[in-house]
Amino acid sequence: MSEITTFCHSFKKDFIARPQNPQRPVHCWSEKDVLDGKIVDAYVIILRTRGCSWALSSGCTMCGYFNDSMLTTLSEEDLLTQFGVALQGYKNEKIVKLFTSGSFLDPSEIPVRVQQQILSTLNDTADKISVESRPEYITKKNVQAIQEKIPLKYFEVGIGLETSNDLVREKTINKGFTFQDYITAATLLRQHKIGVKTYVLLKPPFLTEQESLNDCITTAKDTASYTDLLSLNPTNIQRHTVVEYLWNRNQYRPPWLWSIVEFLQQSKRLTDAFVKCDVVGGGNIRGAHNCGVCDRRVLHAIEEFSLTQNTEVFRDLSCDCQEQWHDQLDLENLSFGSLVDFARWNP
Ligand code: SF4
Ligand SMILES: [Zn+2]
Repeated sequence: MSEITTFCHSFKKDFIARPQNPQRPVHCWSEKDVLDGKIVDAYVIILRTRGCSWALSSGCTMCGYFNDSMLTTLSEEDLLTQFGVALQGYKNEKIVKLFTSGSFLDPSEIPVRVQQQILSTLNDTADKISVESRPEYITKKNVQAIQEKIPLKYFEVGIGLETSNDLVREKTINKGFTFQDYITAATLLRQHKIGVKTYVLLKPPFLTEQESLNDCITTAKDTASYTDLLSLNPTNIQRHTVVEYLWNRNQYRPPWLWSIVEFLQQSKRLTDAFVKCDVVGGGNIRGAHNCGVCDRRVLHAIEEFSLTQNTEVFRDLSCDCQEQWHDQLDLENLSFGSLVDFARWNP
């Protein structure tokens, strides 16, 4: 095990899962999304599972999804009961996003029989179904099994690539797979007419704001021929993670919203993929934030862009804190990434 792998593992070693009901999903809600160029309703279901297999052995530096996992295998009956509970709030939204805080296609999280039953049920009502998976579970066998079962109009698999740079993915994220693994999985999906969504991580630990922004922009370029959708994922501080460890020591600041705006504008010129960003915890001290005065306005523009792809929404945005953001981009490399987050600093 490398040092970073061991460090990530150390956060789970003595972790005891909270008592949770195996028959209730983590969360379900309705939101807006885009299908065939039109804004439509989407229903999001987060199923509670055993947890991501990678997280159980080590996990990524920024990921605290295991906090909501059972860490023990759930029965097929429990998983289908959860799905049934989730369906009680489903109003035939055209898009259904099925997340597990891990990999939907990992049979140790969701047995194949359960995967197929869930997808066949949704096939009657949804025009698009979106799931997430690590590349190792995107195999010919799995893909063909899904296609035989559900001749869907549109099926999409999201892959948390985070960066096209293998060194950054290995040393700062501890992701456990390579860019080539992503390319192989994405190519297989596209050969089977399945959509590819690629998650890109803004601000992993140990990179400065400028280094991370550059890395995300390069990743947008490098993934242009493999993905249909590029989803920027700004790091937020999740519990029991390496990122939280550093943040507690004032050695990490979540990304600026200005960096997100910069990425969205630049990447739109580099890729034909649909580009979006859901800012989890945006405007909060643990999420991507600016000065506090302009955050709501900027978040609203990011949301609007993510539905319309119109970069004009960013045109009239400005705030005094942009200067501070520029300073951070210019100076942080010189200060070894240890600039103070003034929003937190109350001496
Ligand atoms: S980010 Fe994805 S792959 Fe990494 S530990 Fe979390 S769920 Fe698993
Ligand atoms: Zn501001």
